Amino acid sequence: MSETIKTDVVIIGAGPVGLFAVFELGLLDIKAHLVDILDKIGGQCAELYPEKPIYDIPGIPYITGHGLTEALLEQIKPFKPNFHLGEMVTTLQKVGDPLFRLQTDGGKTFEAKCVVIAAGGGSFQPKRPPIQGIEPYEEKSVFYAVRKMDAFRDKKLLIVGGGDSALDWTLNLQPIAKRLTLVHRRDEFRGAPDSVNKMRALVAAGGMDLKIGQVTALEGDDGRLVAASIKGKDSTERVECEAMLPFFGLTMKLGPVADWGIAMNENLIPVDTGTFETNIPGLFAIGDINTYPGKLKLILSGFHEAALMSQKVYHYVYPDKRLVFQYTTSSTSLQKKLGVA
Ligand SMILES: Cc1cc2nc3c(=O)[nH]c(=O)nc-3n(C[C@H](O)[C@H](O)[C@H](O)COP(=O)(O)OP(=O)(O)OC[C@H]3O[C@@H](n4cnc5c(N)ncnc54)[C@H](O)[C@@H]3O)c2cc1C
Repeated sequence: MSETIKTDVVIIGAGPVGLFAVFELGLLDIKAHLVDILDKIGGQCAELYPEKPIYDIPGIPYITGHGLTEALLEQIKPFKPNFHLGEMVTTLQKVGDPLFRLQTDGGKTFEAKCVVIAAGGGSFQPKRPPIQGIEPYEEKSVFYAVRKMDAFRDKKLLIVGGGDSALDWTLNLQPIAKRLTLVHRRDEFRGAPDSVNKMRALVAAGGMDLKIGQVTALEGDDGRLVAASIKGKDSTERVECEAMLPFFGLTMKLGPVADWGIAMNENLIPVDTGTFETNIPGLFAIGDINTYPGKLKLILSGFHEAALMSQKVYHYVYPDKRLVFQYTTSSTSLQKKLGVA
């Protein structure tokens, strides 16, 4: 077991909200360590849609999931955050007032005055389609996320599903694929109507195929897909493909968070909306993991929550100091912290 790492705050989750929390805490001279199960920084933005555009980050008309992660990393650089990637926080105990002890499955122990849970949906895992013998193809020619669009260039692709992910990737990959077939079990889609219309227009123009049915079997060798059987209403059809992307949604596995004695509401953590503190003083929850009346699972909501959370954390970390509200535009002291004055 390695030495205990002592810090002001441990942030569980290095998604966009955990990253922005480093900035807001840093402005108040609060040091943070971040721990994430993933081997990369950026949470859902990095794992699920690195190359997809996001249009609703205030002041940024267009940015990809990867671009947002990079921009947040640039923004928090002055605060030199410590990342512990590929490690899951498994235990969290309150051992003082305020003092928390956390352990990871990588054998690290942390002691922090406050803990910020920014764990999103927990350890999210894609739902596997019910196709016998799919396992050998996974990560070789069956993928549950698109990490690099170029990996699918000039390939015969099968996309399976009827929600936003299936439709969005259909529209994004159709221009670069050799041939793209979208398979959905019925001729109605849950995705955004605009995406459905665009997809149908492509089908009408002969730019892609749409099959109504279910993938029942895969054909190939050594994990390399050659074709899939699609069972329709009246018959089964063989469709040649080199890669399959099933989008059946994600199972949000909360993981160890549920065992930490925090009040939960349907796998989410209820919080006070003035501070984003949980029922345990000094323990905060921000981003997709929390719940309160009117909660929207949007990145911008998580950014707001990070700002308010930091104000309360300040009082635990510096109980004898008075917090003076300041703007980054006009405060020389904040600008010094950011390295711009
Ligand atoms: C396809 C898609 C498109 C989207 N488009 C938009 C959009 O256009 N605009 C928008 O605002 N939002 C969008 N979202 C939602 C947005 O991605 C989420 O609101 C955002 O990622 C939440 O950020 P977060 O930091 O709270 O959690 P996450 O991004 O989920 O990050 C949480 C991190 O915590 C880690 N973690 C969990 N448990 C532990 C543990 N015990 N130990 C260590 N690490 C742990 C996870 O590995 C994960 O990396 C989209 C989501 C998807 C799936």
